[in-house]
Amino acid sequence: MFINGELVDAKSGKTIEVRNPSNGTVVDSVPRGSVDEVNAAVEAAAKAFPAWAAMPPTKRAQILHAAAEKMKAAVPELAKLLSQEQGKPLAHAVLEASRVQENLEYYAGLADKIRGDYVPLDDPAKFGLTIRRPIGVVAAITPWNFPLTLMANKICPALATGCTVVLKPASTTPLATQRAVEIINSAGLPPGVLNIVHGSGAEIGDALVSHPKVNKIAFTGQTETGKRIMKLAADNVTRITLELGGSDPMIVCEDADLRRASAATAIGRFFNAGQACLAVKRVYVFASVAEEFMTKIADRAKKEWKVGDGLAEGVKMGPLHTEHQRAEVEAQVADAVKKGAKILAGGTRPQGDEYSKGWFMDATVLSEVPDDSRMLTEEVFGPALPIVIVNDLDEAIAKANSSVYGLGSSIWTKDLAKARKAVEQIQAGYTWVNDIQVAYDQLPFGGSKQSGFGKEHGLEALDGYLEKKSVVLSAG
Ligand code: NAD
Repeated sequence: MFINGELVDAKSGKTIEVRNPSNGTVVDSVPRGSVDEVNAAVEAAAKAFPAWAAMPPTKRAQILHAAAEKMKAAVPELAKLLSQEQGKPLAHAVLEASRVQENLEYYAGLADKIRGDYVPLDDPAKFGLTIRRPIGVVAAITPWNFPLTLMANKICPALATGCTVVLKPASTTPLATQRAVEIINSAGLPPGVLNIVHGSGAEIGDALVSHPKVNKIAFTGQTETGKRIMKLAADNVTRITLELGGSDPMIVCEDADLRRASAATAIGRFFNAGQACLAVKRVYVFASVAEEFMTKIADRAKKEWKVGDGLAEGVKMGPLHTEHQRAEVEAQVADAVKKGAKILAGGTRPQGDEYSKGWFMDATVLSEVPDDSRMLTEEVFGPALPIVIVNDLDEAIAKANSSVYGLGSSIWTKDLAKARKAVEQIQAGYTWVNDIQVAYDQLPFGGSKQSGFGKEHGLEALDGYLEKKSVVLSAG
């Protein structure tokens, strides 16, 4: 772990083995933290907070720019670790590792641009101000699907505003995150500003979330975990941002560019083996183009998504992250088939010795998926796509909105009126029109409904780490 500027082992001496989901081999291990280390990390962050918050913002910005430079140099090392611990193809791990540098640069550029307002008041002898102060100690909790991106989404705006951080990554993907924290610290962060502890959520999560000196919790993970964190946060009225599960709908209208739409669907569903929060998780296609669209996406699934070890040449899709994860997706597919769905591609595990020790699954596409099947009512966190035929836009939007989730969404049409209706009526934090579901640093990202609340990315992410205070100044 890294606490108060130092590498730290667990007092208990216990460790967590990190295994490669492609073949089961041990990649490395990290200390298994306990409540003792959580407390030490929060105390260190609380102690470091006043000086970090008071540091001239241009100086904070310089440190973050320097950290970005170091992260750029470290991309090859981090990407390899990430591929081994998470399972994703190396090229995709390189993309992810590069995002940390980009995110650091974006928020380093904003660190000296945070300001309040001058507010005239009715009484001419007085005027009002608003000032924005960093919230304090942030507990940043991340999942295993995009460990580095989701770390950066939290620590970059937090550090830029003057907050200090205790980070807890998922216990199955701690390695690249640990190295990233060491590298960012080496750019000149004062001790205690950025700390990392390791352990399962069940063992140390509650202690971190409930710690009275934690002022803000920035969480990404499952909706069920988010609900628990929300309840625990209530005891100290701790601020929270919850980035939770999703079941993003895509609507394909009769005038859609089917070639581009099917390419975007394949990437949106099979990238990261489908283990992405923003992803094409349900397709609602107009009847007149359904057959052509389904043929195109099934072809792509069969031909373009080579499955294998993340470090092997030419692989586009790694294994599922855990055995449990694969079993869950297979059960969701089986449930749909039992209820009448047809498999157009996949639905199988790849065969051969090279696949025997990993949690591999083929890219899978299903049609005629009934509305009450698990694939449409739950989040499918794997490479399986349900397709539903609809008759018009109203039906498509009603079905899109039938989920408890509201994270991403997309529509493919050349008709501006249809696009506008979808943009205004789909209940989600993001809607793409004729484009692939990719998030941008410049645009706020976050969910509605049970996908959570609060924003990451954009200027808006800063708001989650700042408290606005009103001031009245009287001449008298
Ligand atoms: P998870 O909720 O199981 O775990 C996420 C993190 O929370 C891990 O670090 C875990 O150790 C920790 N945790 C677990 N119990 C805790 C507790 N009681 N207190 C504190 N921390 C605790 O999620 P996961 O399975 O790792 O991630 C997959 C989920 O994340 C999916 O639902 C996916 O949609 C969601 N996700 C959402 C976004 C988004 O931005 N909305 C992004 C990526 C992933």
